Amino acid sequence: MITKSQIVFSNFGHNFDIADIYKILKSNGIQNFSFTYSVEPSVKNRPEFFKLAKQHNIKIDVMHLHLFDWNNIWCDGIDGDHDCDNIIKTLNELRKFGVKIAVMHASKGFSNSPITEIGIHRFKRIIQHCEKIDIILAIENVQQNVHMEQIFTTIKSPNLKMCLDVGHAHLHTRDVRELFQRHRDKIIVTHLHNNYGENDDHNPLDNGTYNFDEFLSFDLKNVQYFVIESVPHGITTLNEYNEFVAQTIKLLQ
Ligand SMILES: [Zn+2]
Repeated sequence: MITKSQIVFSNFGHNFDIADIYKILKSNGIQNFSFTYSVEPSVKNRPEFFKLAKQHNIKIDVMHLHLFDWNNIWCDGIDGDHDCDNIIKTLNELRKFGVKIAVMHASKGFSNSPITEIGIHRFKRIIQHCEKIDIILAIENVQQNVHMEQIFTTIKSPNLKMCLDVGHAHLHTRDVRELFQRHRDKIIVTHLHNNYGENDDHNPLDNGTYNFDEFLSFDLKNVQYFVIESVPHGITTLNEYNEFVAQTIKLLQ
């Protein structure tokens, strides 16, 4: 049973005024919001989202880390060092804002960057830092997951968890159940969106070939947050957004 306090909406795919979004979420009984953050100067950060969230009594417990090239971290050199430093700086900022869980990808696309000692060393450094500042790092499944799997095999920490992205699992690994069962003890957060098994559409939950009844039948007791990463395609008014929110909640209960 998923409760409304576990459902998190995000600014995925829309540009509505954030204060309006917070009001709509509150009126639907939703308490949590999530977005992407990085100290990278080229990323448009939105510290005002945190400030407004406080004013609207919205919690921001789960965030997504942004990096342009998730492969740098596996390659020797200053780009990887720079990215690793920026992840740590971003985690520090998020912690100051009260964030509990930071989600990140361990690699980009159909990455062919090798699994390297320097990469594992950097992830160890990041995860040790998470232990120090008391934040959870959740690694998300993407196109291929060898890097994620290697991190899970090599690094053991109570602060290292997994984010199961159901849309990615349906599209790329074709077996959501298998991935869920393999990592069920680690999955603390999930990203929910649908697709037709061809593209990473990030559709609403009832628009695609994945049947969310399967997901809802899993033993989800370790999962703390269910982040909606559906793009409300074609929605142009706040009324329509409100309907999208209400419909999404209904599908999960
Ligand atoms: Zn995701």
